[in-house]
Amino acid sequence: MLKANQNYLKLPGSYLFSTIAKKVAAYKEANPDRTVISLGIGDVTQPISPAIIKSLHDAVDDMSSKETFKGYAPDLGYDFLRKAISENDYKKRGCDIAEDEIFVSDGAKSDSGNIQEIFSESCKIAVCDPVYPVYVDSNVMAGRTGTYDNGTEQWSDVIYMPCTADNDFVPDFPKETPDIIYICSPNNPTGTAMKKDALQKWVDYANEHGSVIIYDAAYEAYISEEGVPHSIYECSGARTCAIEIHSFSKNAGFTGVRLGYTVVPKELKDADGVALHGLWARRHGTKFNGAPYIQQKAGAAVYTPEGQREVKELVSYYMENAKTVKDALKAQGYAVYGGVNAPYIWLRTPEGMKSWDFFDMLLEKASVVGTPGSGFGPSGEGYFRLTAFGSHENTAEAVRRIKEL
Ligand SMILES: *Cc1c(COP(=O)(O)O)cnc(C)c1O
Repeated sequence: MLKANQNYLKLPGSYLFSTIAKKVAAYKEANPDRTVISLGIGDVTQPISPAIIKSLHDAVDDMSSKETFKGYAPDLGYDFLRKAISENDYKKRGCDIAEDEIFVSDGAKSDSGNIQEIFSESCKIAVCDPVYPVYVDSNVMAGRTGTYDNGTEQWSDVIYMPCTADNDFVPDFPKETPDIIYICSPNNPTGTAMKKDALQKWVDYANEHGSVIIYDAAYEAYISEEGVPHSIYECSGARTCAIEIHSFSKNAGFTGVRLGYTVVPKELKDADGVALHGLWARRHGTKFNGAPYIQQKAGAAVYTPEGQREVKELVSYYMENAKTVKDALKAQGYAVYGGVNAPYIWLRTPEGMKSWDFFDMLLEKASVVGTPGSGFGPSGEGYFRLTAFGSHENTAEAVRRIKEL
């Protein structure tokens, strides 16, 4: 008897961004004369920089000659890229990560969604609330859940750790011990980042309790403050409790190119002493045929001196937007967070307004689209996310309209 995967039926009905898209489409149809500016979805808008484009072109040319043609890539990644990652993202920062602990992939979304496969269905997960939806949904799909309760927007088997202004957006240790802890820092959606001492406490907690931390470092390139770690492996003891996920999307603008990587240290083991490194390698070998050569060559260009300079410029471009938005909102009396180590501004809605009411008001009165905080989890209620990924012009115009509200 054909039966659909029942776990999928426990997922929330509609994806946050499709609900937003529907509302925006309806608004545009009703108001054809107004131009809508979106500070909503987390996608980059600026073109890929010259040194990286050149590398993409050169790699395409390699495919045209017998001598340099490439077929299947090694499924864990080309040595030239793993070496560049190990040197630049780790050794330069004093982190002891070897090339063969780096697994190159097509991006951080797939890795953060797939990594749960190497853990037992019985593992209990904990997520920061608000949360990047992939962490919860991928575990629900895998059956790591009880029942979805529509009344409270909670899944009974998932531990939600509130991150609000009250705890400086750093989760407190939960009452119940989780096996898998998801941490994203700098954070999407709150735009806040954990300081090294706070992260060290979580690493110590994980080692003490035999838990694993899945650390999403997709926004690492946006860190501007001292004392904010670029990698969880800057914390001592992280090699025995942490997996780290990276993306080339938000630093180098690869959202449409697709490249990322995940680090699984060899010391990382489950309670029976099974090394997770081997399991992730097996998973890659079975279900993944390697990130494309062309993309990996472009990824390597990110680590050249020109690539690094260009990435810095791109990041500064967006962070100027973040400053524009943050300064303007502050001047208007909003409580605003983030925007210093991440391209996201997390604002408190005025007068206790519900997140979705603020969304409607902003769309209706300013034709500006943002993302309701409650869409990222119960603790996001009363907050609202604006992104810094627009052009300078659009960002300035959005801010001007918000001022007139
Ligand atoms: C954008 C984003 C990613 C996705 O990265 P890709 O490499 O484009 O798949 C992963 N994690 C978080 C938190 C993100 O915001």
